[in-house]
Amino acid sequence: GKHRHKGTVEDCCCDYETVDHLNGEVLHPILQELVKTPFFRYYKVKLWCDCPFWPEDHMCRLRDCSVCECPESEFPDSFKPFQRTLSSGDLKCREGKPQAAVDRTLDSKAFRGWTETDNPWTYDDETDNSEMTYVNLQLNPERYTGYNGTSARRIWDAVYSGNCPKYPAEELCQEEKTLYKLISGLHSSISVHIASDYLIDEATNLWGHNLEIMYYRVLQYPNRVENLYFTFLFVLRAVTKAAEYLEQAEYDTGNPTEDLKTQSLMKQLLYDPKLQAACPLPFDEAKLWKGRRGPELKQKIQAQFKNISAVMDCVGCEKCRLWGKLQVSGLGTALKILFSVNDEENLIQILQLQRNEVIALMNLLNRLSESVKFVHEMGAAAEMGRMHY
Ligand code: FAD
Repeated sequence: GKHRHKGTVEDCCCDYETVDHLNGEVLHPILQELVKTPFFRYYKVKLWCDCPFWPEDHMCRLRDCSVCECPESEFPDSFKPFQRTLSSGDLKCREGKPQAAVDRTLDSKAFRGWTETDNPWTYDDETDNSEMTYVNLQLNPERYTGYNGTSARRIWDAVYSGNCPKYPAEELCQEEKTLYKLISGLHSSISVHIASDYLIDEATNLWGHNLEIMYYRVLQYPNRVENLYFTFLFVLRAVTKAAEYLEQAEYDTGNPTEDLKTQSLMKQLLYDPKLQAACPLPFDEAKLWKGRRGPELKQKIQAQFKNISAVMDCVGCEKCRLWGKLQVSGLGTALKILFSVNDEENLIQILQLQRNEVIALMNLLNRLSESVKFVHEMGAAAEMGRMHY
């Protein structure tokens, strides 16, 4: 099949077979466990649609409340708020949903050992505690939601054309191409998750794979598959580059058994011998920003990515917005790790990550790992003639 890729992933350092093998053997199993741990399953996010664009649409007047938030009893003690204030706007959301009755303000003590340094690549809302909430990501899987039409199309158009130069254009420099590929890879991953968890039959509420969507949106375009692998390797490189930092980070949620598990899974992932042997440098960030225009270009692309992160507040479906924000924040974290610290020797002293950024980064890596696995399995199935589109 067209989508069966061979050789080295373009602009990367490892080939497809190695990536599939490592993902299946090492990364996917560890990540699946990791994202279930209490540290990684609660994401702090502002779910209100706070869209700075298209005001004439009044798209953000109501909160749609489709994301199931965490009951207060559920999230870890060390994340718990010091002081509670309620904003009246939330009441509407709570009415029909007792599980949505959570605090939206969190004391900074909940972030012991974690910084609140701004990320130059994203619009953060970590420090903006009013209207923040904790979401249990395990209860809100990324999947088909029925969100489409002009609203969804407008977001993707803005992300590609408004913020990111049109592609392919031969004269595009490596850096701009990289940004494009990261977004396209994320887009592929979102489409793969829609296809792998699709509402097949509304009447009987039957969910399952939709291979047609998988083919028509992703597999039939070799570039989209390639960009998915590229994005996976890029984020993997960021994670392994920050290994020392991530190994020593504070994973305390007040549950020693679970927290030890989190730490041990992190270590397994960061220092896996198979990974280090087969793909020691998943992406070579030192090749970018080299030219005379390097610094200027970096600023420009940083601003573009920041806009992309702002556009995520305009995603008109709450669950899509949750995962859009999380994954763009994860990409922003990867960009920060790879491009905002020049002195690799002293990375551990210089790098500062917010807790939420680490949660976004690892959940993003897991999502990409799931997509790579699904694409690989579909490709293999097609090759063996078991599948017809
Ligand atoms: P779209 O996916 O909307 O794509 C629009 C256009 O972009 C395509 O016509 C093509 O030209 C181009 N394109 C498509 N894929 C790529 C790629 N990989 N690389 C480069 N260009 C590409 N829907 C859900 O059901 N569940 C979700 O969780 C969800 N999350 C979303 C998160 C965000 C941030 C956004 C913006 C949308 C989300 N959606 C979600 C909607 C979903 O992504 C699609 O927009 C929708 O299903 C309509 O799909 P489509 O076939 O019209 O093409």
